[in-house]
Amino acid sequence: MKISKVVVIGSGTMGSGIAAQVANAGINVHLLDLTKDIASNACERIKKSRPPLLMEENNLNLITPGSIENDLECLKDADWVVEAVVERIDIKKTLYSQIDALRKPGAFVSSNTSSIPLSVLTEDMSEEMKEVFCITHFFNPVRYMRLLELVIGKENNKEKINDLVVFGDKILGKTVVVCNDSPGFLGNRVGVYAMQVAMTEAFNLGLSVEEADAVFGRPLGIPKTGIFGLYDLIGIDLMADVLKSFIKELPESDPFHDVGKELPIINKLIKDGYTGRKGKGGFFRMNKSTGVKVLESLNYKNNTYNESKKVDLQLPDVMDINKVLNRKDVYGEYAWSILKKTILYAAALVPNVTENFNDIDDAMKCGFNWSKGPFEILNEIGIENFISKLNNDDHIPPFLKQLMDQSNSLFNVSNNSLEYFHPKKSYTPMSRPAGVISLSDIKKSSNPIYSNSSASIWEISGKSRSLCVEFHTKANALDGLTNDCLMKAYELTSEKYDGIIIANDAMQFSAGVNLNYFYDKAINKQFNEIDKFLNNFQQSLYQLQHANFPVVSCPSGLAIGGGYEVISQTSFIAAHSNSVLGLVESLVGLIPAGGGCKEMLRRWANNSEIKNDPKLLSLKVFNLIGYATTADSPIKAKVHKFLSEQDTIVMSKDRLIEEADNIIFSKKQNYKSLESASLVLPGATVMSEMIDILNQLKDKKIIGQHGVEVGKKLGYMLSGGDTNSSTVLTEQNLYDLEREIFIDLIKQKPTQDRIRHTLDTGKPLFN
Ligand code: NAD
Repeated sequence: MKISKVVVIGSGTMGSGIAAQVANAGINVHLLDLTKDIASNACERIKKSRPPLLMEENNLNLITPGSIENDLECLKDADWVVEAVVERIDIKKTLYSQIDALRKPGAFVSSNTSSIPLSVLTEDMSEEMKEVFCITHFFNPVRYMRLLELVIGKENNKEKINDLVVFGDKILGKTVVVCNDSPGFLGNRVGVYAMQVAMTEAFNLGLSVEEADAVFGRPLGIPKTGIFGLYDLIGIDLMADVLKSFIKELPESDPFHDVGKELPIINKLIKDGYTGRKGKGGFFRMNKSTGVKVLESLNYKNNTYNESKKVDLQLPDVMDINKVLNRKDVYGEYAWSILKKTILYAAALVPNVTENFNDIDDAMKCGFNWSKGPFEILNEIGIENFISKLNNDDHIPPFLKQLMDQSNSLFNVSNNSLEYFHPKKSYTPMSRPAGVISLSDIKKSSNPIYSNSSASIWEISGKSRSLCVEFHTKANALDGLTNDCLMKAYELTSEKYDGIIIANDAMQFSAGVNLNYFYDKAINKQFNEIDKFLNNFQQSLYQLQHANFPVVSCPSGLAIGGGYEVISQTSFIAAHSNSVLGLVESLVGLIPAGGGCKEMLRRWANNSEIKNDPKLLSLKVFNLIGYATTADSPIKAKVHKFLSEQDTIVMSKDRLIEEADNIIFSKKQNYKSLESASLVLPGATVMSEMIDILNQLKDKKIIGQHGVEVGKKLGYMLSGGDTNSSTVLTEQNLYDLEREIFIDLIKQKPTQDRIRHTLDTGKPLFN
């Protein structure tokens, strides 16, 4: 069934998030609650949400608020009704009988419940409704969390439900994991268990909250909120409710009971109103009592808050599990105890809760933002190594025993395709939704064509035969080695491939050029080295942009600064719906010098708004780059011309490489490379207007003295430098000017101060 009209009942956190994502997909949705006012307020909250739940504000027009009492009739022609009201069985069931009386035959009905079993929800339901009723378990915030668990039971009509699976994947852009009806499904079952282990082990080992979060974070491929930061983010009271429900649902023999019990420290925090970020604080709090904001952390041993100090545990800053596990100190012990217990727990769920261990990996990656799932982590540790590290009293689940007996390997490659160990069928082909090309699967089933410590090249065999360049540094910061990889891919593709795809499966496509590199070179006065680096960067991107084959980049998450300069100089962009694009160099006292200035001028030059007026062109781009503008959705990116009209928007991150492959396949025949641009810019004639703008901003204290200096240099760049309206500038002229001004600025102490400050705090310095 085609889903073109949706009704969401319950307009709280989840209902409003679901309605917003349906609207993002361009579909009409009714959002109902006890009163119309509640639902209208929810729409206001959607509008103001940060990060925004909507890809653009106009999508709000697709959401119609209403009340259950007066507007329930709207579900008569709905194709899908989603219930997201409070977690109360009686309320949900009353609603289902009302829905059943009105819904059109065959329409899907689902609940977003996180803890009530499907079998309980369907107890009193008509047989016909049971066929199409399931649990659609979204994660908060709905636009940004990739996981959608679709829980089905014996009574479902699987063929019909498949339409909802496809809708969740292609239209709503989620990674849909079909689950059995078991407590916590897959994501929360393993994710909440891992959280509880991380918390209780930190208490057992006496680690400070900062120490625990530093280990149970990036070094293990886990978001930097770690455990205590995550507890504060979710809400300490909400976590307590979740635990109660697990304790109630799971048999006493389940190891969850060892880590899910009520803890006095948690009860005290809740009682005192320390429920996390939404309350007075939690394990961390922001103390404003002295007039300055001071981040404090809880010393849970004596119940006091002290200023939070960054701890440097000499841990790797990119995921390196074995390096952490090999440490012979308390941090190595902490990491091992969490990973050991989580892996054993996850393995004990196979085959009864799921027969496919990789579904647990997907659930942890998409629902908890782990870089690798527990089984992928086990694969990295090595099964034999893992088993050898266990104690005598560790219980090895049957699935692991079976693996040890039969092969010791979770994955297998047969005829170049990836298989996984299935407890009933031995090795089984990894099945992905039709069309999906998974980089993570390719990485498990082949060796890179080329690799260095910052980036790798993989062969992609979709409709086209292409190469995929994957960055893999911290936040995918760019450096000389990522550049080498791009150049290597260019050489190889010229010889025998159809095109290049630049994509990766990390949270951020790329947060820009590695600022540490620039800072070190700058304070050592190695400006020639910086110039050489920039020149290489520009030349490689120029080659890619003007190659005689298509190059498609696939941003997802941040593609800013140098990251945006890479994508902006590829022939096509397939952008994920949640990508953030823009040029933010001015914040650190610099200008884009990897072709970003040149590219924005080229993109705006022929726009009707500019009317072929060089002055208007320079001013337009001056405002865009000067304000460090970013667009938090591809739709907004098109308005700023960070994306062009031909670039595509892809709802699902899983489908980016598929889209890139389709583009290369359709364009490779008779592909014509992009011609080199030439531009006419106004030179000094526009500078006085730019200086007026800068002075006004300084008067309003929006920028400081160095802000004016950076603005003037940016203005000089964007007006074409020492040029006039009868001079035609080539792309190379603009590249040269970018480098000249970049070097000029990075020589200055206030720019170096800005870079240092951003590296230390992650925030811009006002100077
Ligand atoms: P919420 O408290 O934010 O919103 C619940 C909404 O239900 C409110 O708008 C309330 O007005 C409405 N409501 C209350 N009584 C009602 C009634 N009798 N009839 C109709 N509406 C009524 O809750 P939430 O966090 O959005 O959770 C909704 C559902 O989603 C729950 O089943 C919850 O378990 C599940 N869930 C929550 C999360 C999460 O992170 N919050 C994640 C996954 C699933």
